Amino acid sequence: MEISITRTTTPKAKPEKGAALGFGKIFTDHMFVMDYCPEKGWHDARIVPYAPLMMDPASMVLHYGQAIFEGMKAYKTKEGKILLFRPDKNMARTNSSNDRLCIPKIDEEFCTKALCELIKVDQDWIPQEKDTALYIRPFIIATDVHLGVKPSQTYKYIIILSPVGSYYPEGINPVKIYVEDNYVRAVKGGMGHTKTAGNYAASIKAQEVAQEKGYTQVLWLDGVERKYVEEVGTMNVFFVIDGKVVTPALEGSLLPGVTRDSVIQILKYWGVPCEERRLSIQELYEANDAGKLDEAFGTGTAAVISPIGELNWEGKIATINGGKTGPIAERLYNSITDIQNGRAEDVLGWTYEVK
Ligand SMILES: *Cc1c(COP(=O)(O)O)cnc(C)c1O
Repeated sequence: MEISITRTTTPKAKPEKGAALGFGKIFTDHMFVMDYCPEKGWHDARIVPYAPLMMDPASMVLHYGQAIFEGMKAYKTKEGKILLFRPDKNMARTNSSNDRLCIPKIDEEFCTKALCELIKVDQDWIPQEKDTALYIRPFIIATDVHLGVKPSQTYKYIIILSPVGSYYPEGINPVKIYVEDNYVRAVKGGMGHTKTAGNYAASIKAQEVAQEKGYTQVLWLDGVERKYVEEVGTMNVFFVIDGKVVTPALEGSLLPGVTRDSVIQILKYWGVPCEERRLSIQELYEANDAGKLDEAFGTGTAAVISPIGELNWEGKIATINGGKTGPIAERLYNSITDIQNGRAEDVLGWTYEVK
């Protein structure tokens, strides 16, 4: 499939060098769009000026939330190369989300190519200061004009780009986390393993309550027993207990993070043991009481590694590593961001050059 390119005639002012970018607030000049209908499949692939969408108010996505998205980043190296990090994983996850949401599959190779073309058009938007990147947001929405719950026949696949700095204002400094024992994010059999809009709609109430109490995010417990740790906010979560790294196993309700997988593989490469298993909040607090909870951190594309300095579970406060970033979190952050930015040798073959 050909990709047509229509360049903007009114480019926007780019953020100034060194300006605080925040996260997801600034968008580039162009976007990629393609459409789906049963007769033509995915078609009309195009790069066009970034602009609002015209939508019918009865578009199915607006009512029933048949929507999926991805999150990834592009980096510009000192030499001026543009790198993606494991884009094949995001494309494969798009199709896994599509499958759960009854959205037709995308051609993963074609969408990677489309993404590269879009990035090339907007490459001057990639920030180069430390801890910045071009955040990439591909998403799919159901566009049938119809009220009534069924899979839509038509869809739009869109990619937008946003130059970003740190996800949390804290940067790589530890965040305070509220252990959520009332609201739940996902259950096995639901959609927790997909990046679908509704999961985030379900999560914001808990986040709001936690923030009112002075916490940055929540630690989600399983939806059945409210016992086992699942994720932290919109990140996967890792703990270092008595020198061993532990992360919840993928049992259907957690999102299989690309960063999570990368952390597990890097730890293995370093020879640091990492267990994927069930982990109860009780076990964590017992480890902390015994002085054995060495570190805790979240992992995700947006923040990469986000250390956890404090947990609050039913009013019981656990301070982790004196509220400071631990050595494993720090080493992982440096190691992953060095590979992503082309500052370190890509020993695990994870970077993908946009050419
Ligand atoms: C996106 C996401 C993650 C992290 O996935 P990455 O591929 O590492 O960015 C973790 N949990 C949830 C709920 C997410 O939406």
